[in-house]
Amino acid sequence: MALAENSESNLFPENAVPLANWNGQEMPLDEVRVSVLDRAFLFGDAVYEALRVYAGKAWLCAEHMARLQRSLQDMQIECETDRLRERMLATLEHSGVKDGLIYMQITRGVAARTHYFPPQPTTPNELIYVQKFDSDPYAHLREAGAAVVTFPDFRWGRRDIKSVNLLANCFAAQAAREADCTEAILVTPDGRLTEGSHTNLFGVKNGQVMTSPNGHHILPGITRGLVLRLAERASVPVIEEPLLAEKLQDVDELFLTGTTTEVLAVSSVDGNSIGTGTCGPVTEKLCQAYKDSVAEWLEASM
Ligand code: PMP
Repeated sequence: MALAENSESNLFPENAVPLANWNGQEMPLDEVRVSVLDRAFLFGDAVYEALRVYAGKAWLCAEHMARLQRSLQDMQIECETDRLRERMLATLEHSGVKDGLIYMQITRGVAARTHYFPPQPTTPNELIYVQKFDSDPYAHLREAGAAVVTFPDFRWGRRDIKSVNLLANCFAAQAAREADCTEAILVTPDGRLTEGSHTNLFGVKNGQVMTSPNGHHILPGITRGLVLRLAERASVPVIEEPLLAEKLQDVDELFLTGTTTEVLAVSSVDGNSIGTGTCGPVTEKLCQAYKDSVAEWLEASM
């Protein structure tokens, strides 16, 4: 049979297949096999984490592991996060990746298909893989900022759980791509801007930073948390309040945060310029603070 266009054999450039760890066994990612009865395949019944790797080290590891533990708890999936952490760090080391991303996914496991959780305990399937970055994926946007679109937020009511059920986020990201934009900002029916399809959202008005408070309606971003700490350290005032779609044209600056995105200025929303249409001074300050905190951490962990 002819191989399909997206066959696993041609998903990665030669010699760049990420190293995976599948239930404790290291192997190339494209050799991992999973049952169609895994509940992640049938229901999206799984949680995940993505961590940035700088200089071969896992950035904000404790914070990511704590969020993973919360997601697992809320989903009632039994899994030992200390063991996972050790496995993740060993896989990172064996991968030799210096700059990249660690992806971790824990599924409820394989069971006969029922909507309710399997009555007999299942064994979670645990995937880790380490992907190499050749350079900062957003390097070309760091100075000019990113164009974004708005998109309706029609996700479920527990967006704080980092589950792999991301269809509404995929729709939003696709809308951004079709508009030649970097990200889609999600808008609730009552006009609140919650977050991006895979980023958290911040506004700046009169030197004050605004972002949605944590709760069931957004993912408690690890980069979001860091940026709030950095703002405090830099004496930048912060207010945790939702940004409103109707006030979007009044903000001086807008920026996104995320594990790969880091801190990224937004230049326009739906084709309308934000502020000066480039990276503003407060965003710039927080970008620099982010870089400095990575550098400080690397120096301290030498
Ligand atoms: N919101 C959503 C919906 C996301 O998927 C992500 C990326 N995981 C973020 C925010 C940013 O979170 P973090 O800083 O932990 O990457």
